[in-house]
Amino acid sequence: MNDSMRRAAAIVLVILGGAGLWWAGSGAPASASANDAMVATMAAARERAAASDARLKGASRFEEGGWIYVHLEGDPGAMGYQHGYLLAPEIEDGFAAVSTGMMHSTERDWEFFRKAAHEMLWPKIDAEYQQELQGIVDGLRARTGSKLDVDDIVAFNAFEELPDYYVPWLNKRQKAANAPNLKSPGNCSAFVATGSWTKDGKIVMAHNNWTNYRNGERWRIVFDISPKNGYRILMDGFPGVIASDDDFGINSDGLMVTETTITQFEGWDPNGKAEFVRARKALQYAGSIDEYTKIMLDGNNGGYANDWLLGDRKTGEIGQLELGLKAYKLWRTKDGVLAGSNWARDPKVLKVDTPEFDPGNKESSPNARRSRWDELLKENKGKIDVALAEKMLGDHADTVEKKEDANERTLCGHVDGSPRGVKEWDWQPYYPGGAVQGKATDATMTKEMRIMARMGHPCGGDFLAKPFLAAHPEYAWQEPYLRDMKAGPWTEFRSGQSPKE
Ligand SMILES: [Zn+2]
Repeated sequence: MNDSMRRAAAIVLVILGGAGLWWAGSGAPASASANDAMVATMAAARERAAASDARLKGASRFEEGGWIYVHLEGDPGAMGYQHGYLLAPEIEDGFAAVSTGMMHSTERDWEFFRKAAHEMLWPKIDAEYQQELQGIVDGLRARTGSKLDVDDIVAFNAFEELPDYYVPWLNKRQKAANAPNLKSPGNCSAFVATGSWTKDGKIVMAHNNWTNYRNGERWRIVFDISPKNGYRILMDGFPGVIASDDDFGINSDGLMVTETTITQFEGWDPNGKAEFVRARKALQYAGSIDEYTKIMLDGNNGGYANDWLLGDRKTGEIGQLELGLKAYKLWRTKDGVLAGSNWARDPKVLKVDTPEFDPGNKESSPNARRSRWDELLKENKGKIDVALAEKMLGDHADTVEKKEDANERTLCGHVDGSPRGVKEWDWQPYYPGGAVQGKATDATMTKEMRIMARMGHPCGGDFLAKPFLAAHPEYAWQEPYLRDMKAGPWTEFRSGQSPKE
């Protein structure tokens, strides 16, 4: 080993946020360590070049309360590059966990999803989001030398819509024999309230994200997005994904947005525009409930069909957009509360878009939580504020058993504790899924671009992977990706926040 190589190896430094490379020299055989040193030198050179890229100007990252906060700004390509660069380790990790789940549930290989992304989704993605997605690939590759390309990243961004909406539609169309029993997901408990329902008469909005713990433990990003065009955005999200996707976000024109997914929704339009693109676009460009609705309807592909809960802090009005594919309905009020827990309620949407869903089954997770929202919100009419909303997100009242018991029927979901699972979503008994994090905000906080967020179960309970897997070997396939999900504190985040504060 010569001196220059030694010097080169010595300059390998931990680059950013603790993820980096190292070289241990003296103990290893000469040839192996020389090779390691060369690889490390190349990686260091690549990271130095990436770190000095002008596109990173203004971007930043810090961690707090179990969340990773990133600030992205500028034109779409630059914001993508910042996203890919700042979250590179988390994107690689999240991609591995998510893509494994997509292949496992659908029994399709990754090439299938790449093809769907390339041929079906990409041509209909607006140019600015194509640039942002390509930017993510560029930033990621510059930082880590990743081999992921834009088809991988587009398929990954569509992880809520391709496996559970497109594939079942395709299986039915192809009359696929022995097709897996795929169900649209049931993500979340949420409400938005206004007028006489809240303490200050203004809007309060809250949401907890229900998903499998494998993905949910990784759903820990707070995105502060300052785009060249459109409104400033503060939202939670998943590393590598351009929409919030669970969804919870506010924008600088006062729009407040969340949703819960429609259980047993069926349908897909291959000529439509990806849901993750429409959802991101609507949060970036809509300043009113009407504008939001218009963007979501434009090119509706049926993917990740949700009941959108909306608020406009400028008018105090709230809305619920039940967005089926064949039908949809918009309710709105300046004095009321709109709650969601994965059920549709418009008779037409129920009939044409969710033919299997039974609104009369009081014991199902969506309907039991619907009853609980009704009782809890009525009990607290006129008292609802952000602090109370945080408590509600951690509620464990089971309306069927009429007792406290964290399970699939409680607003704070713990399906890993349920011998019933959730058959409507094809979640088997003790499925490792439920509420994985929570967020809340109100009109005043939205004006100041602030939200509260808690990572992990909103009740504060921890999920521990090792004892769970020991007790439930049927989920052993998740072992490489299933991690502990420990609850953090309720933490405030705001636009333009810096790490020192
Ligand atoms: Zn809980």
